Amino acid sequence: MALIGCGFFAQNHLHSWASIPEVEIVAVCDRDAAKAEAAQKNFGAARAYTDAAEMFAAEKLDFVDIATTMQTHLALVEMAAAQGVHVIVQKPLAPSFEDCQKIVDTCAQAGVRLMVHENFRFQSPILAARRALADGRIGKPHYCQASFRSGYDVFSGQPYLATEKRFILIDLGIHILDVCRAIMGEAETLYCLTQHINPKIAGEDVATTMIRHRDGGVSVVDCSYASRRLPEPFPQTVLRIEGEHGTIELLEGYRLRVTSHGQVTEEGVEPETLSWTQKPWHVLQESVLNLQRHWVDTWRKEEMPETSGTDNLQTYALVMAAYRSAESGSVVTLAA
Ligand code: NAD
Repeated sequence: MALIGCGFFAQNHLHSWASIPEVEIVAVCDRDAAKAEAAQKNFGAARAYTDAAEMFAAEKLDFVDIATTMQTHLALVEMAAAQGVHVIVQKPLAPSFEDCQKIVDTCAQAGVRLMVHENFRFQSPILAARRALADGRIGKPHYCQASFRSGYDVFSGQPYLATEKRFILIDLGIHILDVCRAIMGEAETLYCLTQHINPKIAGEDVATTMIRHRDGGVSVVDCSYASRRLPEPFPQTVLRIEGEHGTIELLEGYRLRVTSHGQVTEEGVEPETLSWTQKPWHVLQESVLNLQRHWVDTWRKEEMPETSGTDNLQTYALVMAAYRSAESGSVVTLAA
């Protein structure tokens, strides 16, 4: 495989690919030569490129992992699909729904697999909560609160986030809305309020969304990068899922508490740190490995990955609906 975009978050992709035995990193590419060369050196890739077109012309790849920012995804996917190379693309898939759809259609027409790097639902504490639900411990869920509230300075590692007119919903909310979809299913209507608290950034940094799901369930998805509180919980997502027989709570400090038929159990679900992961990022870093492992496993079994392009269009539609709701002040109905 090859990796395109050797920036901030791609380091986690590289560490993860390097630890999956079935995968060989053949080439890396970044238009910044220093970043491409550093990735080549640190992860033993045979070749480094600064031009993706040149790389696709020279290499024989099974798949490519695109970890650039969203403005470049469509053009890179078109190059990969033209060569019959399967594709993983970082979230957000593209700056508009139309371009996301083009990415999905391009891959379908070329017959290449497409997975979106939507990793939050693969965080091991979230997987543990999803397992408790799938095991029937609380029965059918009718309410979910998925919450990510932090004051962490994300702008030092990812300076481009401070200048985007749309910030928290498209960057972080997309993950939390995706987790909510994985738990509660598709949405029917949505209402969202946004706030812009930090005057040094261009976009909204708090978003509170209420969702009515197609099967009648209700969710509240709240995200904030303006929450000043100690201990700083970054980057934990907390969950409360209520069902007919009990409640699943993923609490701060990585505690999973399940009330089931009047009995309570509680366990620690914090992931161990790996040789290349560091607290507090470890939960995110490990989810990259879990997601990449899922790509390899589903490919071998010839199954669709959970976060296929088609699946991810539904998450992207929630983000766009949330912006429409916040801008219009009204409830938005999602297309079937
Ligand atoms: P970054 O700017 O640090 O890295 C992007 C890299 O891509 C840069 O080195 C840039 O030179 C390179 N690049 C851009 N266009 C290119 C092209 N056409 N060809 C080759 N190289 C190109 O950005 P980042 O913070 O690492 O974010 C990258 C993506 O990862 C974004 O879509 C972001 O939303 C996503 N991200 C996801 C998570 C997550 O948890 N899933 C976390 C952080 C970032």
